[in-house]
Amino acid sequence: MYLKSLELSGFKSFAKKTVLDFNSRITGIVGPNGSGKSNVAEAFQFVLGEQSIKSLRGKRGEDLIFNGSKTIGRQNRGAVKVTLDNSKRLLNLDFDEVVFERVVHRDNNNEYLINGSAVRLKDVIELLAQAHMGPTGHHIISQGEADRILNANLKERRLMVEDALGLKSYQYKRAESERKLERTRENMSQVESLRRELAPHVKFLRKQVEKIEKAKELQKELVVLYREYLSYEHTYLDGEWQALHRDEKIPKEKLQILEKELTRAKAVLEKSLGHDNKSAHVLECEQTLRDLRTQKDELVRDAGRLEGALLSEQRRLKKQYDLAKVQESRTVPLKDVRNLTSEVEDKISRAERAGELSLMKAILSELKTLLVSFVKRFESLADLDTSADAEAEITRLKSEREVLQERIEGLMHKQSIAEAQYEKLRVDIEKEKDGGHDAEREIFKIVAEQNELRGEINLLKSREERLRMEQEEYARELKEAEVLVGPDVLKNVNNADESGEVSEQRSVQHERRRHLEKMKIRLEELGGGGSEEVLKEYQDAADRDTFLEREVGDLEQSAASLEQLIKELTERLDFEFREGVRKINTQFEEFFKLMFGGGHASLSVVRPEKRKRVDAEELLDEGTEAPAEEEVQEGIDISVNLPHKKAHSLEMLSGGERALTSIALLFAISQVNPPPFIVLDETDAALDEANSRKYGDMIENLSKYSQLVLITHNRETMSRAGVLYGVTMGQDGVSKLLSIQFEEAVKVAK
Ligand code: ATP
Repeated sequence: MYLKSLELSGFKSFAKKTVLDFNSRITGIVGPNGSGKSNVAEAFQFVLGEQSIKSLRGKRGEDLIFNGSKTIGRQNRGAVKVTLDNSKRLLNLDFDEVVFERVVHRDNNNEYLINGSAVRLKDVIELLAQAHMGPTGHHIISQGEADRILNANLKERRLMVEDALGLKSYQYKRAESERKLERTRENMSQVESLRRELAPHVKFLRKQVEKIEKAKELQKELVVLYREYLSYEHTYLDGEWQALHRDEKIPKEKLQILEKELTRAKAVLEKSLGHDNKSAHVLECEQTLRDLRTQKDELVRDAGRLEGALLSEQRRLKKQYDLAKVQESRTVPLKDVRNLTSEVEDKISRAERAGELSLMKAILSELKTLLVSFVKRFESLADLDTSADAEAEITRLKSEREVLQERIEGLMHKQSIAEAQYEKLRVDIEKEKDGGHDAEREIFKIVAEQNELRGEINLLKSREERLRMEQEEYARELKEAEVLVGPDVLKNVNNADESGEVSEQRSVQHERRRHLEKMKIRLEELGGGGSEEVLKEYQDAADRDTFLEREVGDLEQSAASLEQLIKELTERLDFEFREGVRKINTQFEEFFKLMFGGGHASLSVVRPEKRKRVDAEELLDEGTEAPAEEEVQEGIDISVNLPHKKAHSLEMLSGGERALTSIALLFAISQVNPPPFIVLDETDAALDEANSRKYGDMIENLSKYSQLVLITHNRETMSRAGVLYGVTMGQDGVSKLLSIQFEEAVKVAK
């Protein structure tokens, strides 16, 4: 026995605390009309979570609270407690006794408690479903509702049967799984959309990382190439310097000797001066020519330096331009482009709304500024500045060169005049056949030889100048290489072949250099700046993406297992339902025969007729798929066949026949899946004496499976009860309870 007691306080007519103990398998409740018996049945419904106030015969929650009478004041709360024995773990709670309590307050607030702890209604309903006590109240039949199951429609009947078969807990589980599945799918789509948002960023960073890796690769190649190039260059320059010094040696020595000879010759001439003024003229001319040459040499040296500076400046400028070309195809982060787009869109829509032309113009100029500053932000302004500087420097150097050139030309002009004078003098002296001019002739000879040597030395000088420039260029290259690929590249470069022998053609080295330049440009195109941050950012983004991917995978997995669970539950429900209906049918037929002394009765699972619209559609298209589940959900139909009668339809049954049929069905259902207790409020009201006896027999049979609480005026029914309670109501309008004997009960009932 599971039902232990029911306690009412302030509930309906039970103003004071009243306790009914259920120590017997069958408890009868008797009493005169209006004494409060049905209030007891309703107390059961109430405490088990009934939400329809109407089925508790009230309009508002307030109607359930004792409303006061002439002598006793009204109550502020109505409470009902039901105590169940849980020693056999009827309910999934680790208590031997479970007390459900519900309290209603005048403000219509409801409290639910299980063993004294506040809980939610949902908890009550779910816990009760485990013990086949469902919200359709199939085990509490109120007064006048004996044939409720016959009046119900197909769907309601199905719900009652499902309830009685204890399928509700599966249904809760299924509904819960469906909710979880929906949440999982929502999460999945959120995570997927996060991944989609992240994807372009990851892609962008991956490209950057690829570039960085390529740049590293390129740098390695560049180191090898640089080493080769630089050591060849070093050897070449060494060789060239050695050759130059070698080649210079003899002409320089010769020139020194000639200089001494000239000094000597000039001294001899100075001593013999006086016999004609030509001698003094020779000395003068020689001095003028010497001065002019010194001046010109100085200027030419300056010009050489200028040329060198110009060349290096031009090279610098070319580099700037190459860099600028690289910038032309520079990548701009998508985020910045998006920001720009939204700003532009804002401005355009502002312009569209602006009525005045002046306002529109102002917005247009804002737009222009915005776009220009966007482009500027991504151009390296510093680079552009330096290229402007270089251009200015080149212009300055070129104009300086022009000035120098003019001065050199001026000097050359003077030189050629002086030379002409000198030559004339020489020719004049040569004409004089007499030997008075030997000293002058000696000077002419020496000067002519000197001139020849100077021509040779000048050539060597320009060779030296070229070499010097190449040497400077080499120094620059060394620095550049160090910056570009690191100081390691310089190791051993200067220890290369000390002999200075380069066996290859110079053009091979030029080719190397061209290749080097191309690679440097490619490296710059790849742009290696901030590579560590990019690598880190990429790693973070990729990690997050992997995490999200795993998350999607996990969610997919849990969605799949939920789908599987739902499928299994659906199959289980379907099987249990059909199996339950089959078992009920067997019992129903038996009880029906017992009640009516023959005939047949059965339940059938049917599909409710589909709506016309669907039919019409089906006519048009024979291949229509099965309509949504809601439309075809099966219901339960009842067919009866009374003995000796033709009536088949439920509508044609008499009141008594209806009562008997529904009692038979109710008992059949209860026997297949017995609830812990059943409350029947005057279900026997319509029965004649003979049928009352049969009803009594069935009740005794039923009580083997479920505890029974019977509200009755029927003597036969009373006689089957182990315990009888009498309910009375006095002048104070309060229901009172007393334990009574059968004989008293018969009297009380009357
Ligand atoms: P019957 O044998 O005629 O079916 P019953 O014994 O089942 O009668 P109930 O219907 O349970 O009687 O009780 C009805 C009584 O309860 C009425 O007298 C009604 O005034 C009283 N009652 C119902 N609600 C309240 C309430 N909120 N406060 C006080 N009394 C109430």
